Amino acid sequence: MTVRYADFRDIAIADFDAVVVGSGFAGAVCARELAEQDAMNVLVIEKRGHIGGNMYDEYDRAGILVHRYGPHIFHTNDRAVFDYVSRFSPWTSYQHRVLADWYGTYLPVPVNKTSLEIAFGDEKAARLIEKLIATFGDERKVTINELRAQADPELAEVADFVYENVFLYYTQKQWGLTPEEVDPSVTARVPVFISRDDRYFQDEFQGMPAEGYTRLFENLLGHDNITVCLDTEAESVFELVFASGDEDAPLSAIRIKDEDFTGPIVYTGPLDELFLARFGRLPYRSLDFVYETFDEDHHLPCGTVNYTVSEDYTRITEFKWLTGQTGSRTTIMKEYPRPYDDPSSQIPYYAIIDDDNDARYERYRRLTDALPNFHPLGRLAQYRYFNMDKVVADALAASRRILASGEAASTG
Ligand code: FAD
Ligand code: UDP
Repeated sequence: MTVRYADFRDIAIADFDAVVVGSGFAGAVCARELAEQDAMNVLVIEKRGHIGGNMYDEYDRAGILVHRYGPHIFHTNDRAVFDYVSRFSPWTSYQHRVLADWYGTYLPVPVNKTSLEIAFGDEKAARLIEKLIATFGDERKVTINELRAQADPELAEVADFVYENVFLYYTQKQWGLTPEEVDPSVTARVPVFISRDDRYFQDEFQGMPAEGYTRLFENLLGHDNITVCLDTEAESVFELVFASGDEDAPLSAIRIKDEDFTGPIVYTGPLDELFLARFGRLPYRSLDFVYETFDEDHHLPCGTVNYTVSEDYTRITEFKWLTGQTGSRTTIMKEYPRPYDDPSSQIPYYAIIDDDNDARYERYRRLTDALPNFHPLGRLAQYRYFNMDKVVADALAASRRILASGEAASTG
């Protein structure tokens, strides 16, 4: 069934049992589960003019399917998650490959045995690989921090090479910070892989929705009990009621269209935005995307090329590699990282994880603790660096908790 859209001004809030803010995976999966498992009438409000969150894709003027908010490749080891998303789309078995442009020579990323051969020559690489295997084991993944902690001079040489040529400049561009300054979990996402496997991800299930993400989200949100209001921002339509006038006083109710809404409210936007940044803004990194179309079959040798030693952009993605689309034209996209200063024109793509920011996030989070029907969920509302599969798994778990708690939906 197709998605049912409505204008927020035309809906009666008393018709709904649950409200979901945001239509990315966190919001859309919850909306579907509440609608399907308990026949709840679910209202989804979405500030953008389309569904799908950061997964949104569409055909550009050259007829190429492009991602509008960064390249998205689905990968997971969680069979339940893959089975779930497979209900809403068939999947291709695309395996993502990334090359680093190293002064005009391509090195596989994550750095693997082949990368070391290209960088050091076959003979020396053989010795280094032997040492890596003796230290860590064959077919093992080692983070750049683990590698840099090794005292052995040959391993230190590998570590220095990878640090200088793969991590340092890319991380400075991406975060405005050195690899030492970012949370270790960030660089750990891209280890050194003592292997010939040149895929970016080794998860058991990976691929792309065969007809695109937007179609998948249409199928996910296309349900009799779900109504979607686009161009509707939570902070404009929620009236927040607090226990007292104190800055840290907890939220005691959310009123929508002049009525207390007591059914489940799943919120997947940034928490600081909801509270109008009363404790200061939560910092994020944002990105600008620049697209180019060429009259050629393919422009790059693989899905993504990372620029680890040059350029102002971090990477270029060519969508046809990801989607398997054919034809004589192709579109690429460059990613230019930048600070997130202006919520009205920019998107908060990456939470900047550190102790101060976590503490600020927790202060916002505590405002919501006393309101049992309010559920912050997803990459933005949890201020975390989550992949899609984790968000789907969390949304399924949150829906089960909401359904088990039997949260009453009544307005008054
Ligand atoms: P989102 O997709 O951000 O959805 C949140 C939705 O809420 C948005 O539609 C937003 O408009 C809406 N919203 C926000 N605030 C409000 C408000 N106040 N009122 C109303 N609506 C609101 N993951 C992978 O697994 N593989 C990848 O290859 C991958 N590539 C990525 C590339 C980039 C550049 C980025 C930034 C992320 C990537 N991710 C990838 C992560 C993926 O984007 C997230 O895991 C996913 O988007 C999380 O879904 P979500 O629903 O939590 O958030
Ligand atoms: N990274 C890097 N060089 C690379 C690839 C990744 O320095 O060639 C670092 C960088 O700090 C980046 C992090 O590893 O932010 C995580 O990379 P990933 O590809 O997972 O980032 P995402 O796709 O989420 O933007």
